[in-house]
Parts: sequence; structure tokens; C-alpha cells
Amino acid sequence: MKGRTYIGELKDMAGKEVMIAGWVDVRRDQGKLIFFDFRDMTGTVQGVILPKATEAHAVGEKLRSEWVVQVHGKVNARPEKNVQKEKLNGAVEIEILSIQVLNEATTPAFDVAGAGSEINEETRLKYRYLDLRRPRMQKNVRARHKIQQLVRNFFTAEKFTEIETPLLSATTPEGSRDYVVPSRLEPGHFYALPQSPQQYKQLLMSAGFEKYFQFARCMRDEDTRGDRQPEFTQLDMEMSFVERDDVMAINEKVLIEVVKTLYPEKKIQQIPFPRMTYDEVMKKYGVDKPDIRENKEDPNLLAFLWVIDFPFFEKDDKGGWTFTHNPFSRPQKEHTEWLMEKKNIGEIKTTQYDVVLNGYEIGGGSIRNHDPKALKKVFEIMGYSEERIQHNFGHMLTALGSGTPPHGGIAWGFDRFLMLLHNEPNIREVIPFAKTGEGKDPMMGAPTTITDEQLHELGISITKKKK
Ligand code: ASP
Repeated sequence: MKGRTYIGELKDMAGKEVMIAGWVDVRRDQGKLIFFDFRDMTGTVQGVILPKATEAHAVGEKLRSEWVVQVHGKVNARPEKNVQKEKLNGAVEIEILSIQVLNEATTPAFDVAGAGSEINEETRLKYRYLDLRRPRMQKNVRARHKIQQLVRNFFTAEKFTEIETPLLSATTPEGSRDYVVPSRLEPGHFYALPQSPQQYKQLLMSAGFEKYFQFARCMRDEDTRGDRQPEFTQLDMEMSFVERDDVMAINEKVLIEVVKTLYPEKKIQQIPFPRMTYDEVMKKYGVDKPDIRENKEDPNLLAFLWVIDFPFFEKDDKGGWTFTHNPFSRPQKEHTEWLMEKKNIGEIKTTQYDVVLNGYEIGGGSIRNHDPKALKKVFEIMGYSEERIQHNFGHMLTALGSGTPPHGGIAWGFDRFLMLLHNEPNIREVIPFAKTGEGKDPMMGAPTTITDEQLHELGISITKKKK
């Protein structure tokens, strides 16, 4: 908009005439004087219509919260006694000369000025575009961007390449339940949405990129919890020719940089981050992601912790073996023989490392098994037939056998990290368009039924599920 001044710039403009554009945040009609707070993406400012501005006065009488306006006015310094030091524009106000309404607004479904925690969550998500107007949500969403930008710059300076990997992929048996997408061209066949870019990032190491990262969307069909959503974001990275300490060191460095640069008010309890083995944490705390904060009352204390030396396998509920973290991990060197001979399975330790923050796992990764013969043993231990191994992982075994360097990486649960930095109670507060606890999007109405025509095209018929 030509000639527009952002509200954030007004504080140094006393005496000047300006044109601002934004929303009516609050309106206080005192009869002769009408006061408004106007809001744009840079902040808020108070405006006042004096009785002599008759035309503006007539418009001002109609204005309501959330109307979109363009205001022409004069920036006046406030008298000393009225200065509100803690506010961005506490020392100035706008004397409104004219107002143009750009769009009216229906009465908002809820107040967008407060923190919003008292409002029913389904309603907040149904009108998310309104909910996102509140300052807290604006701050959280903008913070996502700031961290992402810092992380991107950091890894770019370290010679990493950001590479996108597909969303339409194949279902794999590891991890949680997949979200699947039916294929129209091959009825009865399905894509799966990735639970993480794990295989692709390893294939990128095979492809010679050596240093990869990505802000990757991951989809897992699990029961949702406060720190889980059907889709979430990982900062995913992978490096070639590295050992465990290389991956841990570079991630520790960028985590510290994020905090020191963007959250200077926060204190990291211990640098370098302490390390504990899985056995130690289980013995001392009884959980593998302990909250080791010395003072749990302090909202600005960040207690990072690395947990290492996890067991590779554990018994599943059918009595067979399954992996604890990641089937593609390499076992620790001294246990490679046990893996190859499939003995002492419960005692094999993996190269997995988890990074824990204030009692939440905010990241995990490992050095990978780049020897196809060893990777195959993992699947054999899990009881997979030769046919199933080839069907699901043949491409990985072939790739590893075609000149793949040693490699390893990690992924951070980006939303969870942000949730903790902002002392939010759940990750929905830091995800712009989140789903409800039941995995629904009440704004778009997802999930939803599709038409018979769509079903027919996909060769799908719906049967009622027996409860
Ligand atoms: N892909 C793994 C995960 O999503 C992380 C990793 O090992 O890099 O948990």
C-alpha cells in the first residue's frame, strides 16, 4: 500500500503525518472522544478522534473490533504523565484525521486479544485464522520462522544442502501406523505418507550429498497427545563420514546458538550438555527422558541432556524381537559380532543418541548400518522372511551395497522444542494449523467423506467397521 507506515515505526515519528493500515484492536467510545487501538503485524498504537474531525468521527462511530481500516493521522507525543513505558508506542498516539474502512468484520467468535486459554480448543481451531491474530500465537508462529531461518543459515554455512524428499511414498513396517493414500491409476494400491525421511536421507548419503538437512513434515497415525499431532515437523539431518560425536557436537552447537541468539533470557543449565547412558538414567530416574532441571520453578531454565548407549532390541508383545529406536542404526562396534551371529540379542547396544530437554525427548538419531549384510541381520532378528526383507528393504540393501559411505544423523521434534522454548502446554500452540486432540481439523472439516464418484474412481468401497 503506497505511503503506508508500519505501526512498529511510529514511536520515533512524533510530529509527522502518517497513513497506517490494520485492524481495529480495541474501541473505547467516550462520546466526544473515540479511542481505538489499531493493530498491524508490527504492533499496536492508540488512536483518538477529536470532536473537530467530524467526518472521521462519523466513520469512527460505526467501527467495531476486527474491522480493517486505513487511517490517516498525525503522530503526537503523549504528555509525560500519560506515557506508558512498557508499551511499544506508549509515548505516542495518533490523532486521527480520516478513516477509510477497507473491510467490515462480523463479531468475532471469541476475543483475540488475550491468551485464549479459556476458550474451547475446538472453537479456537475452527476459527484458527482469528485465533492466530492473538499476540501469543503471532509470537509463536513468527518464532518458528526465526528459528528455522537461524538453523538454515547455520547448516548452510556448514556446507549442508537442504533437500526435499517425497510425501507420497511406500508403506514400511517399521515405526507407527502409516497414513495411506489410494492410487487412482493402480486401484488397490496405496502410497504412504512418510513417518520421517529416514530412508530418503540415507539414500541421499548414498547419492553423494554428504551433508543434508530439511524441515520435514512427518505423518504418523498414532493416538494424539499433548506433544503429538498426526503431522508434525522435524529438523532432519544426515552426514557422511562421521562418528557419533560429530553428529552430537554439531547439533549441540546449533541448539545452543538458537537459545543464545533468540532466547537470551533463558539459561542453559549445563554446557557442554551432560551425557548419561540409558542404564544410568533408568537406574537414577526410572525413565529414559528425565527432567534434570535443578529448579523446576524457573520457566527460563533449559536442561539439555544426551542419553546414549540404548539397547538395540527389545521384546515385542508377541515375544519376538523388535528395535527400540531405529532399525537402520548401527550397533556399537564391540557388539557388531553379536549382531552378525544373532546372539546376546538383548545385550546389543545401538549407536542411538537422544537429546532430552526438561523431560521431553526433543531429538534422536544414530550412526547407521552402512553394511547391507549387517542391516539384513536386524530384519532377520525381527523375524522377517527373506521375501519380506527384499520387498520392503531391497532398495536399501542394494543402495548400501553400491558404495554408500558411513553416515549418521538425527531429527529434532521441532514443534516440541518450540513448545518448550515458549513454555506452552502442548504443541498445538506452536503449530499454525493444528488438529484437535482427536486428530480433526474443525476448520476444514477434515477428515471427511468423499463422493461415490471419487470412491468409484479409486476402486474403493466402504464397509462398516465392526466395533
Ligand atoms: N528418523 C528418525 C526418527 O524420525 C530420526 C533419525 O534417526 O534421524 O525418529
